[in-house]
Amino acid sequence: MTADAQVQGRSPGQAKPRTRLPAVVVPTVALFAGALVVWGWATWLSLVWHLPVWATVPLHTVAVVALFTVLHEAAHHAAGSLTWVNATLGRLAVPFVSPFGGFPAARYVHLTQHRSGSPEHLTPWNTRGPAWTLPFRWATVDLWHAWRYLSTPARPVAESAEMLAMLVFLPCVLAAVVGTGHGWELTVVYLLPQRLALALVSWCHDWWRPTGYHRRHAELPGQPFCRYVEIPSPRSPEPPAAEAPAEFHPLTVTGVRWLTGEAVAVTLAVRGELRELFRFQPGQHLVLRAVIDGERVDRSYAICASPGEPELRVAIKRVPGGRFSGHALGLRLGDRVLARPPSGTFTLPTRPRDARHVVAVAAGSGIGPVLPVVVHALETAPRNRVTLLYVNRSGDDTLFAEELSECTRRYEGRLRVLHYRTDERDPSLRHARGSKPFDSIGQALAISYERYLPGGLDPGRIRALLESRLHPAKVDEWLLCAPPEVAEPVRAALAEHGVPDGAVHVEHFHRS
Ligand SMILES: Cc1cc2nc3c(=O)[nH]c(=O)nc-3n(C[C@H](O)[C@H](O)[C@H](O)COP(=O)(O)OP(=O)(O)OC[C@H]3O[C@@H](n4cnc5c(N)ncnc54)[C@H](O)[C@@H]3O)c2cc1C
Repeated sequence: MTADAQVQGRSPGQAKPRTRLPAVVVPTVALFAGALVVWGWATWLSLVWHLPVWATVPLHTVAVVALFTVLHEAAHHAAGSLTWVNATLGRLAVPFVSPFGGFPAARYVHLTQHRSGSPEHLTPWNTRGPAWTLPFRWATVDLWHAWRYLSTPARPVAESAEMLAMLVFLPCVLAAVVGTGHGWELTVVYLLPQRLALALVSWCHDWWRPTGYHRRHAELPGQPFCRYVEIPSPRSPEPPAAEAPAEFHPLTVTGVRWLTGEAVAVTLAVRGELRELFRFQPGQHLVLRAVIDGERVDRSYAICASPGEPELRVAIKRVPGGRFSGHALGLRLGDRVLARPPSGTFTLPTRPRDARHVVAVAAGSGIGPVLPVVVHALETAPRNRVTLLYVNRSGDDTLFAEELSECTRRYEGRLRVLHYRTDERDPSLRHARGSKPFDSIGQALAISYERYLPGGLDPGRIRALLESRLHPAKVDEWLLCAPPEVAEPVRAALAEHGVPDGAVHVEHFHRS
């Protein structure tokens, strides 16, 4: 097996694709209010003043285009960091834009397009088919969205129920209005401007594409339209991987501490002349080399000391049948270990005035590179917050459990840890649920900053978190270091929820 690291990240100079949103984006709300005023005014001109169609329909159409923009912002959670603001604006805007469907369903179909299409995420209905059909397609794009949603299997029950309710309710209201003899008014005020607005938006966005808006929007999907000029593009070239010089140097083992029955922390002293070469950033790793059965074996291990400490430390967990990890568990004080200087870009640039919310997902020994980054983020910027989702088989199996509890106390709520225990009989689950007497208020508080949940971090749980406490709009950076069975569903869910790649930092422990 070869151990290798593949890291996604940004250099400190790169623009942040997610710049924090205010609770409510005022220009979007103002656009919503303005559009309602124009819509109401045009309706009054039409129904009370009996102005001709050519005078009122353009006003209604402009209002619906503006309401479409608000709906689109809300679908991307770009109308503010508060979830309810987006949900409310989206739900209020939907009936003006289309009588066929609910806001969550429209959001799902649109975000699916972002994930699976070209960078411009064009709507296929708007771009394919004989030329003569195109204007009709543009004007009926909402029907395509509804059909697309209804042909998607296994969507959440609440979302489907809302979609079906809207599909029944709004057309019934329209039929009732027609039934009371107001079909013409309905057509002039509602149906015609709505079709014209949809045709205009579809034509402009998917056909004409005058401004490169799509590409900009694909780069910054979580940002409101009013910021597209202000925020520089995140698409600068990938930073080169931080490569370490290839040479190995002997380091002396000065400490071996058992962390669990299957993992040790090994402390390595660095001689004076090597100190500069072995200076590291939190999140970087060493490549250690051993000759096992006459063969050279190189493996990477995250440095879990803090940069100020004079010695280096790595935590090595036994992998069943693993060559290096088995060897490392037998290391003794005074042994010499060959190490290559620190390398890796699984780091998080932090600045003292940061106020970021970082969510870290770690499983098993994946906590190795994650913990130093988390501690650094909390240590260097007093307004940073971290939520750690930490998956282990059981409490006995959990690396750095005490250190984490101690950190939750030290950072007084800025670090919250959700422990997932895949062994649901794990006694530490019962223990954590409650009966334990606390020695101090600090201990009691720290327990409340840590929660213990039976079972793993399955896709359903990830989605539930992403739709509530960890909604992408409330999170600035994601750190991920876990085996593929945990990491892949998390990455898929993040992509599904529109989190840009640049905000997700992944450390892979490759297996072969
Ligand atoms: C950047 C980076 C940082 C790392 N940091 C740490 C760390 O801090 N602590 C730590 O314990 N490990 C860490 N690893 C993993 C480590 O490098 C080794 O891959 C791991 O110790 C197994 O090596 P081995 O020689 O014992 O197993 P091998 O002899 O290489 O493999 C034996 C068997 O185990 C499987 N296997 C290999 N690696 C893993 C794994 N990680 N989990 C489960 N099964 C595996 C293999 O597919 C193979 O079937 C890191 C890896 C990378 C790339």
